[in-house]
Amino acid sequence: MGEIKMTKEEIKKYKGVLEQEKARLEKEVAEHEKLVDFGVDIDGADEEADEAEEMGNQMAISHDLRKRLTEIEGAFDRMKNGTYGKCVRCGGEISKEVLEIVPESELCAKCKKAG
Ligand SMILES: [Zn+2]
Repeated sequence: MGEIKMTKEEIKKYKGVLEQEKARLEKEVAEHEKLVDFGVDIDGADEEADEAEEMGNQMAISHDLRKRLTEIEGAFDRMKNGTYGKCVRCGGEISKEVLEIVPESELCAKCKKAG
């Protein structure tokens, strides 16, 4: 139940990382969704299966990218609320090692492992 010992500087650092990541993801989502839109026009019978598969892939990718964007938005919200770096499940501190790799992480390593 300890206090979160994250300094303003650290939050600022993670915020900067997440802002860059958000911009990158938004660009990527736009590109993948453009590909999905193009796929709709294809009417070749033989290519249809491949097109459908490729479209499915693209949609899955943009779905994953959007999910990450949502997680990043969540991290920004927690920064505003002053709960960034806190596990949303157990309230424990999320270790810096986790945040270094996944700054938008909302679960501590223990809860993530528990699934
Ligand atoms: Zn936890």
